[in-house]
Amino acid sequence: MRTPGARSIGVLGGGLAGLALAALLARRGHAVTVYEAGTPGGKLRRLPVADLIFDTGPSLFTFPGVWRAYLERLGRSDPLDLRPLPGGLGVHHTPHGPVPLPVPPGHPLYPHWARYVRAAAPARDAITDLLTRPPRLTDPQFVTASARLGRVLGPHVSAHAYLRALRLPPALHAALATHALNAGVGPRSGSALYALLPALIAHDVARPAAGMGALLDTLLRFGAEAGVQVRSGTPVERLDVRRAEATLHGGATVRHDLFVSTLDPGVTARLLGRPEPRGQRSVSGLAIYAALPVPAPLPPTSVLLPDDLDALDDARRIPALPAGTMTLVHADGRQLSVLLTAPATGLDMDLTHPWVQGQLARVERTLGQPGLLASAQATAVLSPADYARLGTPGGAIYGLTPPAWRAGPFHPTPYRPHARVWQAGSGVHPGGGIPAVLGGALIVDTLMARSRL
Ligand SMILES: Cc1cc2nc3c(=O)[nH]c(=O)nc-3n(C[C@H](O)[C@H](O)[C@H](O)COP(=O)(O)OP(=O)(O)OC[C@H]3O[C@@H](n4cnc5c(N)ncnc54)[C@H](O)[C@@H]3O)c2cc1C
Repeated sequence: MRTPGARSIGVLGGGLAGLALAALLARRGHAVTVYEAGTPGGKLRRLPVADLIFDTGPSLFTFPGVWRAYLERLGRSDPLDLRPLPGGLGVHHTPHGPVPLPVPPGHPLYPHWARYVRAAAPARDAITDLLTRPPRLTDPQFVTASARLGRVLGPHVSAHAYLRALRLPPALHAALATHALNAGVGPRSGSALYALLPALIAHDVARPAAGMGALLDTLLRFGAEAGVQVRSGTPVERLDVRRAEATLHGGATVRHDLFVSTLDPGVTARLLGRPEPRGQRSVSGLAIYAALPVPAPLPPTSVLLPDDLDALDDARRIPALPAGTMTLVHADGRQLSVLLTAPATGLDMDLTHPWVQGQLARVERTLGQPGLLASAQATAVLSPADYARLGTPGGAIYGLTPPAWRAGPFHPTPYRPHARVWQAGSGVHPGGGIPAVLGGALIVDTLMARSRL
């Protein structure tokens, strides 16, 4: 029996955003069905390589306060057992030498790191608030958090400007500026907000004890227990808002009182028969998962800086492959993951592609591990074409990027493109990532509840 006032809601996309929001809506008593084109999880899924299982997509769990807020809304205790990632954000290989983040006490850069962290500290709770609350000037907590963030950022709009004003030694400056790429853009286009990230996350970057796949299992379980139906292998091809109807692949139609799309806003617009929003795409990536015969003698996380930090700003405009790109390397026992940042041009590349070979040679050279990749028993590659197949144009991991000044409290809020259609997911919450999609689910859940659906 349905709760009075309960609606039938169709959620498009069974990635982390769709699953997280579906559980919240079902807990309010709505009848929720998730339509997923492939298998649930989206960018996060389990990938067998030789005798190992890799969790694809997100590797760093940040802003745990957002996860706690999500659990609190659902009234659940935390099953994830989040463990600090050994080595934090890892060793950053800058042109001026390696920089571990967080910089440990006793390191020559420590006094500068400590000054940078002190300056950013007041923003910590403010950002968690801003990630989880609808951006409304009528909400005193939103206004207080925005003001606190504003005081930390001062007059600086871009990550580059914020860091330059701190006058940090070049090695530390370069390591910190790289994190602007968490926004999917370079430090000149990326908001000053992203220059704060290492200070705010380096000490509590985590991963579930059982691996990132545990987050997917947990969201699926929360949904199942609240009555969410997940229909895998069911792409939605059209939304007819007048008839409250979605057309599925193959032509069948389903009716719901409301729809929530967690797909890229461009894809949602296409399903609605509207023109696609235009703008700059965030970066894409190429992920290589390698099963090694023996564990590699590497720190858990290494970061190779791009040769030219601003190249990815340019690469978004011209479909060029940057010479030396930002690269994240995770080593965990026999599992080696190499994530190359790539422009969102939907390119289908594998290990034989000359650009990929050049980047991997650079990784092996920088880490002093010649022949590391060639020693792998098996490898699997996910390219920008694979991310594009998940429904993000060009494979842009975080969809379109707003201008730097709109990345924080003033971000665009296309939460409700039609009275019957809501939007969530990484394309609506720029900066993407787990905190943004979980926080976005909380925001949309709040707004839907307030609108007395
Ligand atoms: C290599 C890589 C590394 C990353 N690292 C991190 C990290 O360290 N930390 C972090 O927090 N984040 C990270 N991220 C980002 C994070 O993975 C994403 O922001 C998050 O998983 C996005 O979730 P989503 O549900 O919004 O989108 P998606 O995961 O893309 O889910 C969208 C779903 O919609 C489905 N779909 C598409 N079209 C249709 C349709 N027409 N009908 C029905 N279903 C459809 C797709 O199949 C997909 O399952 C990383 C991403 C990548 C790719």
